[in-house]
Order: sequence, then structure tokens, then C-alpha cells
Amino acid sequence: MTESVGIIGAGLVGCLAALAFAKRGYRVTLFDYRADPRDEATTDRNLRSINLAISSRGISSLEFVDDEVAKRALRDIIPMKGRMIHDSSGRQESQIYGLFGEAINSIDRGLLNNNLLDELDKYDGTNDINLMFDHKLVKIDFGEKQQECLFATTNYGMKTYDFDFVVGCDGAYSATRYQMQKQVRLNYAQEYIDCCYIELYIPPSPEYNSEFNGPFAIAPDHLHIWPRDEFMLIALPNADGSFTSTFFGSWALVESLVPSKNKVEEFLLANFPDAMELMGIENAVRSFMDHPKGALMCVECNPYHASGGRAIILGDAAHSMVPFYGQGMNCGFEDVKVLMKLLDKNKNRTEVFEQYSKQRHEDLVAIVTLAKNNYKEMSHDVTSKMFLMRKKLDGV
Ligand code: FAD
Repeated sequence: MTESVGIIGAGLVGCLAALAFAKRGYRVTLFDYRADPRDEATTDRNLRSINLAISSRGISSLEFVDDEVAKRALRDIIPMKGRMIHDSSGRQESQIYGLFGEAINSIDRGLLNNNLLDELDKYDGTNDINLMFDHKLVKIDFGEKQQECLFATTNYGMKTYDFDFVVGCDGAYSATRYQMQKQVRLNYAQEYIDCCYIELYIPPSPEYNSEFNGPFAIAPDHLHIWPRDEFMLIALPNADGSFTSTFFGSWALVESLVPSKNKVEEFLLANFPDAMELMGIENAVRSFMDHPKGALMCVECNPYHASGGRAIILGDAAHSMVPFYGQGMNCGFEDVKVLMKLLDKNKNRTEVFEQYSKQRHEDLVAIVTLAKNNYKEMSHDVTSKMFLMRKKLDGV
């Protein structure tokens, strides 16, 4: 009898985990509390960011799970070979990531998630993958053999499902992790950093022609940064010629600006005049004031599993990190690869989950720390380096 797994969370990591387990013959049911994001009428989407940077860590993990799926899911990526630093006077400087054309890649979060969900729908293995939307995990009763999961649904009230084991991919506020904490001596730390993010938008340039895929308002093969020490703006290209831009700054700064349209306008024009020309100051001010204000938090825990191979957490549920290293999803994809590699070597799930927690912890602590440190690099150090280089060149 094949084993059954309940995967909680049909975000990016949950989808990849579902595919990976299904390909190893498990009977997979994937739950999400949201409605199906592919449904036109769905308004309750994962709004964390419009686009993301996917790096070789994430790409190689996708390829490890399924080469063909990776090709299809990544067909719309836009390679960014470096970062473009915009100083306050509007000068731009390209800092390439590597000498051999190494790049990170911009990808639409919604599109990637939908592509992966489509792959799960058409998965044609020994067992189908069951997708259950509008199912919010509220409780798990961990047993010796079966894990009883209780879900709240809008149309069918409370529903219970039993699984041999559970995989929690339900994000930073993971209900799976919370249920595990009641049963396992699971160390857990959560830290909000004093930074708020707001998504803004650079429309395609008026000359943009989709047939020729250009011209773009700013270089599409770069991640753009407007570093200003205490705050910064970034922008990543989209396939339609536009850029999704994100402002990062302290809560005190944002709260001091937002009540006043004039203050926001003054602030944006004083600090990002070139970006405002691209966005249009009215649109930028409106977005700055009206768009959701996102909080950034880090989650660290240890171990990542419940004993007896009963449950494990992957992705942000296990290690939410600030986005400055662009590695949250990449690292979540890598979790799936690391776990599958262990499972491929050893069929004893209890041992594998224990091994996973031991092996993965050091790497995850390191990347959460690197992500925190990279805020200083992006908002400040990139300009200091630029400034120092100019001083050298100018002979000052
Ligand atoms: P999530 O994306 O949070 O998905 C969790 C899913 O679980 C959701 O669909 C949710 O509806 C569901 N869920 C939650 N609770 C329940 C429940 N009780 N029952 C059922 N379902 C539930 N990462 C990168 O690699 N590169 C980047 O460039 C990047 N940029 C970022 C920019 C910003 C502004 C932010 C905030 C994050 C960024 N990240 C980036 C991080 C990345 O978004 C996350 O690491 C990634 O989304 C984690 O995926 P996940 O599937 O683990 O969790």
C-alpha cells in the first residue's frame, strides 16, 4: 500500500513538494486556504510580491524534481546579469554579477505558481495529485500511524483527513509548525525587522513594442537599485516591458510620510527624481499611499520535523527570511531537493526526516543571516563602493 501525504500550502514550495512526492509514488493531497488562484474570479491571491528573482539554487532544484516541468515553468524568465545602481543625480552604474555571464532571473510569482499548479493538474503518474482549495488547516492530531488533519472550509464546514504524514509548506505563519510545536520540542524564533515594503510600478515605455520586446524604459537585463542609505527602491523587469518596483524603508519614515500626499510627493521627487519620471509622479504617490504596507520577518526553528516521520516543514514555514538576498523561494525549492535526495537513498522516513533536520540547519541559519546583512549592502555599501571607485578614477 502506497503511503499518503497531506501537503499544507499550495504556494511555490508546496507545489514543488507535491510534484516531488508524487513522482516517488506517494498519494499526495495538496491543500490551500485560498481559492484556486487560476480562477478568474479569485481575488484572494498571494500578494507578497509581483515578481521574484530565481537563481541557480532554485532552478537546479526545479530541474532536479523534473527537468521538463522546469523548462515549461521557467519559459518566461528574464535574465538579469547584474545590478544597476542609480545615484541621486540620476547617474547609472552597472555592476555585473559574474565574469562568465552569471545571472539571476526575474519571474512573475503568480505565473510561476499557476504554471506549477497546471503541472500538478496534468500530472500523469501512478496516483493523481489531489488539489483542495478553500481548506484551512486548523489542527493536527499526531498519531503513531496516522495524522488526523482538521480543516475549516467555507462551503462544507469542518473536514477531517488522515495521512501517513504531513508536510507543512504553509508559509511564515505556518499552522503546521504551530501544531508541531505542541508535540515536539521545537525551538522557534521570530523577529520583525524595522522595514516596511511598498510595491510600485514602472509602466512600459511608450515606444515599447511587444513584437520586438523593446525598447525598455531602463535596462531589462539588470536588477535596478536606487540606494539611499536609510531606504531604497529596487525594480525588476516584467515580460510585458514594465518593471515592478519595491520601496523599502523604516516604519517610522513611511508612517511620517503617508498621511500627507504633499510629503510623499516631495520625498519621492527629492530622492528618486529619475524613477519618478518613469513611474509618473501621480501614479507613484497614489501607489505609495494606497498599496499594502508589508512587514518583513525572519523565522528560524530547529528541528524541522516531528519524530517518527510524522511531519516536516519546508520553505518559509521553516525559515522565513528578509527578501534582500532574493533567496527565500530559492532556498525553499532547495529544501525539496535536499529532502528528496535523502529519501532516494533511504526509504526509512523517520531516519530521513532526522537526517534532514541535522544536515539542513547550518545552511539555513547561514542564509537567513546573509539575507539580513544584505540590506546594508544593497541600501548603502553598493554606493560606497561606487563612490570610492569614482574617487580613485577622479584621482581624488
Ligand atoms: P508562501 O509563498 O507563503 O505560501 C504558503 C501557502 O500556504 C500560501 O498559498 C497560503 O495560502 C497557504 N497557507 C497558509 N496557511 C495555511 C493554512 N493554515 N491552511 C492551508 N493553507 C495555508 N524569494 C526569492 O527566492 N527571490 C526573491 O526575489 C524574493 N523576493 C521577495 C520579495 C518580497 C517583497 C517578499 C516579501 C518575499 C520575497 N521572496 C523572494 C521570498 C519568497 O516570497 C518566499 O520565500 C516564498 O514565497 C516562500 O514560499 P512558500 O511556498 O514556502 O510560502
